[in-house]
Order: sequence, then structure tokens, then C-alpha cells
Amino acid sequence: MVSRAEVNHTFTDEELDELRGFGTVESHKAGDLLVEEGAMAPDCIVTLSGHTDIFASTDEGRKRVGWMEHGQFAGDLSVLTGQRHLSRVEMGADGEILRIAHADFQRLIAGNSHFSDIFIRILSARREFSKHRGFAVTIIIGAAMDRSVYAMRDLLMKHGVAHRWFDPADGPVAAHLMAERGLREDQLPVAILGAAEVLVQPTPEQLAAALGLDLLPDGATADVLVVGSGPGGLAAAVYAASEGLTVIALDSLAPGGQAGTSSKIENYLGFPTGISGNELARRATVQAQKFGARLVSPVRAASIGRDGDAYCLHLADGRKLRSRAVVVASAPNIRACRSRVSNPMKAAASIMARRRWKRSCAATPR
Ligand SMILES: Cc1cc2nc3c(=O)[nH]c(=O)nc-3n(C[C@H](O)[C@H](O)[C@H](O)COP(=O)(O)OP(=O)(O)OC[C@H]3O[C@@H](n4cnc5c(N)ncnc54)[C@H](O)[C@@H]3O)c2cc1C
Repeated sequence: MVSRAEVNHTFTDEELDELRGFGTVESHKAGDLLVEEGAMAPDCIVTLSGHTDIFASTDEGRKRVGWMEHGQFAGDLSVLTGQRHLSRVEMGADGEILRIAHADFQRLIAGNSHFSDIFIRILSARREFSKHRGFAVTIIIGAAMDRSVYAMRDLLMKHGVAHRWFDPADGPVAAHLMAERGLREDQLPVAILGAAEVLVQPTPEQLAAALGLDLLPDGATADVLVVGSGPGGLAAAVYAASEGLTVIALDSLAPGGQAGTSSKIENYLGFPTGISGNELARRATVQAQKFGARLVSPVRAASIGRDGDAYCLHLADGRKLRSRAVVVASAPNIRACRSRVSNPMKAAASIMARRRWKRSCAATPR
């Protein structure tokens, strides 16, 4: 369990001077709204004077869960991923803040390893902290036996989106939330996102789009397109993005692939005591995003063609993406893997390792 001490950091005045180059200084009165709960692509707010208050939705309603003083920053992992912000940030006392816009924050993280180490460590700890404390702006209401409720919860869990789920049969909370929003029982299941948005009987794709997991415009281009975000695809995304290439990695389900379902992987290099597949996927996802790779899912690739000098990837929903190189890491029956990434062997190595692992499983008596 993550402790309160692990979810905060105070920047020195020298560090604050450096951070000023990435944002704008604003003066605010106590009570001013700085970031709304559920905001997409949220800004990172650093307190320069006064303090900011953090409010989060909990099972007992909206609560003040913390405050940020001089040199401390407000924001959760969504300031990096662009997903919905888990909390509402308000000015707690008259003072000044440094507002770092989402795009500038990504530039800061990709280009400065000192700040990137601090932000990634604290933001990851905050996401864990809020999961355990039950803070979540995404609420699902629907019956336990409803297949679409399962599909929505599966999508949220695989993408690491903190959420709360209420079955109307389990108590009065669901009825209360529905009455507040004028929802009827025949409209279930519903997804409530942030302060105002309600999705009635959404498909996983609609839910993903509303959460900002798939905001890929038709015709998007990249240096490298990666099909499949299992360990192989994520490794290719990390290597390509860290070399400065623009990368879009997509997956028809969610990042993590088969490994994401494993309770403990003991033969992954660098983890002598093992690591859960879920944790491996979470770390690899953050690592790829830290270098600026864009991860989108659920999005299914249907076919690849040529478009002059470029590749054209056709998605199942009709969108087309263009790139100079495509890494196909959509195991198990991979037939084509054409890549012009700086080191294509790194992606291929993962695929070879999987094949070797399968062969060794077949050879090992159980
Ligand atoms: C329960 C379990 C336990 C395991 N334990 C271990 C272990 O302990 N040690 C070990 O070495 N290996 C283990 N493995 C195997 C390991 O997980 C795989 O070798 C590894 O995940 C392969 O990685 P990959 O990226 O090549 O493919 P995958 O993990 O299969 O990822 C492929 C991804 O591509 C996506 N995809 C497929 N088609 C498309 C498409 N058309 N468009 C977009 N996306 C697509 C899929 O959704 C998937 O996420 C385990 C596997 C399982 C299921």
C-alpha cells in the first residue's frame, strides 16, 4: 500500500525556476477552479505561493483529499496520459501557480530525465494511492450478471482507469446516483464520467473514446505504427520513441497483451523476484508514454497496404493511418514483421523469445 509520504514532492526554488520555462504563471483568488474533475488532457499545476486544494469523489461524496503548498504539484497520472483527471483542483488561498499545459508537460517529461524521474515516480504512486482509497470519477452502474457491465469493467481495469461500480441490487447507492441524474432502470448499464457526462449503454469503443483512450483522427501519421501492445509491441514503442521517432501503438483490447493476464512472470529479465503481468504492462505503458509514444485502444488493425513511399494501415472501423514503418506485434500467428525502426531486432527478439518459451513449455514435463 502506498503511503501519503510517497505521493508528494517539493521542488527546490532552482527547480521551480527551470520549470517556469515550460508553463505560465497565474495569480488566483481562494476558491478559483484550476482543473475540473474529469477534465481531459489536464494541465499540471505547481503551487508557487498560497496553496491549492485537491477534491476527489469518494463513496461518501466529494472530499478534500489533500493540498499542495509552495513547490508542490497537483495532478495524477492523467497529466501524462491525457485521460480524465481524477480530482478537482482549486486555489485554497490567494496566491500564484505555474500552469504547465498537457502538451508542454509531455515535452518536459520526454526531454528532461531529472524531472521525468520525479514526476513519473510521484504520479504512479498517486494512481495506486487513489485506487486503494477508492477515488474515481468514473462510475459504472449495472447488474453483476450483465455482459456489457463486465465488458466495461474489463476495459477500465486493463487500462488502469480507477472506477467505482454499483449494482442496483446491492444497496441504495446506485438508486441515489441514478435519481440525482434522472436515470431510469431500463437505461442501465450506464457510465458516469466526471461531473456531468453520462453514457447510456455504451459500447467499449464509445467508453474508450469518452475516456480519451482512443482519440486517433482518421489520416493520422507517425514514423512508426505498432500493431499490438503486448510486451513485444510496447518494447518496440519504447525503443522507437526513445530514439526520437513519433510512434502510435494500437491494440484491439488494451496494452499488456497475453502477459497482462499472468499473475506472476518469473523469467523476465531484471525482475529476479518476478512481476505480475498487470504491473509489467502498467510500467511499460508509462515508459512508452514518457518518451511520447501514443497508445490507443481498443482499435483493431485490419490490413496493411502501400501508399507511395509510406505504409497505409487500415483499421477495422474504416480509419486509415500512414507511417514510414510498421511493426506488427500482434502474436500469436505473426506472418509479417516489416520494420524500419532504428533497431528492428529489438522487436523481433521479443517474438523469438515467445516462440522459444512456448517450445520450452512443450518440452518440459508437467
Ligand atoms: C496466463 C499467461 C501466463 C504467461 N506467463 C509467462 C511467463 O511466466 N513467462 C513468459 O516468458 N511468458 C509467459 N506468457 C507468454 C507471454 O505472455 C507471451 O509470450 C507474450 O505476451 C508475447 O508478447 P507479444 O507482445 O509478442 O504478444 P501478445 O502478448 O500476444 O500481444 C499481442 C497483442 O496484439 C493485439 N492484437 C492482436 N491482433 C490485433 C489487431 N488486429 N489489431 C490490433 N491489436 C491486435 C492483442 O490484443 C494483444 O494485446 C504467459 C502467457 C499467458 C497467457
